[in-house]
Amino acid sequence: MADHQRTIRIADFELPRGPVTIGALMTMSRASWEHLRSQINLRRQSDSSVPLARCRLCEAGVFIRSQATKTDHVPMFVHFPEGSKDCPWYEGRTLQPDDARAAQYQGHQESALHRQLCVTIEQLANADTRCTHSAVDTYLRPEIHKRGRWPDVYLEFGELGKFALEVQLSKPFAPEIAARHIHYDNEGVRLVWIFNVLEVPLPQGFHDVITMQRGNAFLFDDDAQAASIERGTLVLKCYLENGKGGWLEPRLVTLDDLQTGYGRSAFIEDRRSDLLVASSKEERSCWWKAFQRAQNDKPHSPFYSTAFAPAWDSLLLKVPGLETWKDEFWEARSDRGQAHVAMLFAILCSVAHSADTGTENVYITKYKGEGAVLAMLNSKLSSGDFKHCANLIDSFVRSTALADLAERPSLRRMIKQADDTEAQIDNEHPVWRAMARLFPEVLDGLVRAELDDLGRLPKWAVSSDMAVK
Ligand SMILES: [Zn+2]
Repeated sequence: MADHQRTIRIADFELPRGPVTIGALMTMSRASWEHLRSQINLRRQSDSSVPLARCRLCEAGVFIRSQATKTDHVPMFVHFPEGSKDCPWYEGRTLQPDDARAAQYQGHQESALHRQLCVTIEQLANADTRCTHSAVDTYLRPEIHKRGRWPDVYLEFGELGKFALEVQLSKPFAPEIAARHIHYDNEGVRLVWIFNVLEVPLPQGFHDVITMQRGNAFLFDDDAQAASIERGTLVLKCYLENGKGGWLEPRLVTLDDLQTGYGRSAFIEDRRSDLLVASSKEERSCWWKAFQRAQNDKPHSPFYSTAFAPAWDSLLLKVPGLETWKDEFWEARSDRGQAHVAMLFAILCSVAHSADTGTENVYITKYKGEGAVLAMLNSKLSSGDFKHCANLIDSFVRSTALADLAERPSLRRMIKQADDTEAQIDNEHPVWRAMARLFPEVLDGLVRAELDDLGRLPKWAVSSDMAVK
């Protein structure tokens, strides 16, 4: 590793993701950077002229390389091979994808074990009377032929649909994984990758497949074979991620158990987006519970209640600079930072909950019924306390189902006035970052984009102009 300093320090992703530093990439969870890696490869396959992520210096497309270490993998940004050698961050020669694929494919085709597994799987599937057509390693249709792709095992299973089973013994190559998912999706064929063993540590290519399959790994082994014979249909062994870097107890599943209605992937249980959806709500629900307790704290204002203390302490630990801001805020306004953040939370919760239920509910100010959210926002922005958050509030509202509110003349006027008279916090500011932790679906570009990719953005966080996607 002689040339360690020559590495891409910042990659600019298409919005809403925005810039991602190498530091941020390296501290991400595996699920998060693997999602980015897959999205980059999917884009590369579907439209190579517009990269999803670009090098900050030379603006050429970059991908995420998974660098193997002794026990794991470390992600890093790398220029695609056609990138400029003149870029100061150019990292030197990279592996030529075509050579790698050719070498791998050669070995793959020659493998007698591979052939035997494919034939066995086809025979077992054929024992099921619903299987009307099957083929091993054959050109199926002119479309597939033209693009030079054919599945290891192809099955037509009546109403259950058409399946391409890729039996993968050697590690698959990332661009190939993306290409196959796009291809079969266009053909209306469900793609399922089947492994023979789960190596430890698992090579990145297998991780990439599991990412596409939302945390599901399918194996065809002796247990699966025995169960297939017994049940008279194809049975696979399914490993589901446990969310802690390991697996749940494996289950024996059939093609009937697959969820196939979610775009490019077939899986038993969505282990990735369920966890992402849950973790997005986690911090917010602590604050919400604290707020409910605080409301019983009469006659004091709920926002000054000690009920918020644990939630506030946890936020202080997670948001760098919040502690310092709290002290500065006290100096400037003689008010408690915790109460200010709690009020901002109540403002944004009013927007989010009203967007979610379609009924206007505000948790700060006394407005009720139709027009309550707009009246609350106008009153909070006119009072001075929240003028410095006008841009935050504006971009929050615009990213929700209540986006139309942001076009109301009264609110436009308030926001402009606030923007003209007071310095605005931006997305680097500790208060903005605190809100991004509480409402990542809207304010954290990476989380928002990932939920959107997976079709799991909650409806309150879907703005009307996103429907085009
Ligand atoms: Zn560059």
